[in-house]
Amino acid sequence: MQRRPVIGLTSRVCAFNQDGKSYDRFGVAIAYCEAVEAAGGTPIILPLSEEPSVLNSYWRILDGLLLPGGQDVSPQHYGEDPRPELEAVDPRRDRVELVLAKRALAEDMPVLAICRGEQLLNVAAGGSLHQDIHVSLGTKALRHFQKTVDESPWHRVQLLEGSLLHTVMGEATPAVNSYHHQAVKDVAPGFRPVALAPDGVIEGIESTTHSFMLGVQWHPELLWREHAEHHTLFSAHVEMARRGVAKRASGTI
Ligand code: MN
Repeated sequence: MQRRPVIGLTSRVCAFNQDGKSYDRFGVAIAYCEAVEAAGGTPIILPLSEEPSVLNSYWRILDGLLLPGGQDVSPQHYGEDPRPELEAVDPRRDRVELVLAKRALAEDMPVLAICRGEQLLNVAAGGSLHQDIHVSLGTKALRHFQKTVDESPWHRVQLLEGSLLHTVMGEATPAVNSYHHQAVKDVAPGFRPVALAPDGVIEGIESTTHSFMLGVQWHPELLWREHAEHHTLFSAHVEMARRGVAKRASGTI
């Protein structure tokens, strides 16, 4: 039986209290794990270790990396001081994910980056972020943090024709959900914007030099069951990871 490619998902610290004591966890939203599993991958959760030999061990078992959503990336990583609108930051998560993202960039590991993950990937590659889109764009910004009873699509995005994202999703103006107050500002060198919201906010980036280095600002893991075009992001990522497995098995790399 063909081996399922192993997709590492970076975790976050989840507060957990019992009997008045704190027993925090490393966790990943179940929706990401289920989306990767349904796409044919093996999802594994990566604790936020800062021990280099542990990170090396992660690397030996990974075929692909998924950077999930979460807190704001500290602006110190793109050369800015924090504005009042900046929200919660986890310095350890920033450090660990930046190490992993830079290594993925250096070694062309397939990466799917979602929401914060997209922003983190852009920063890892040398780009910057809007610390708050509503401050940066003023009244011309759409409402990008939806308040709905479910996670259904909220606004459309225009995909760049001929981009990897367009090819993978198979449509030019998919409807997406929206749970963010930050966004990519300066796109990192070697990347290009491939999805734009109607107000001009960048909602997708991809590398022009790697085999699969793709970030989206929305949350496909909350949409794929009812909107199949969003599942293609996970299946394309797993398929690219599978090619790496095949290459290693044949001794090509
Ligand atoms: Mn949005």
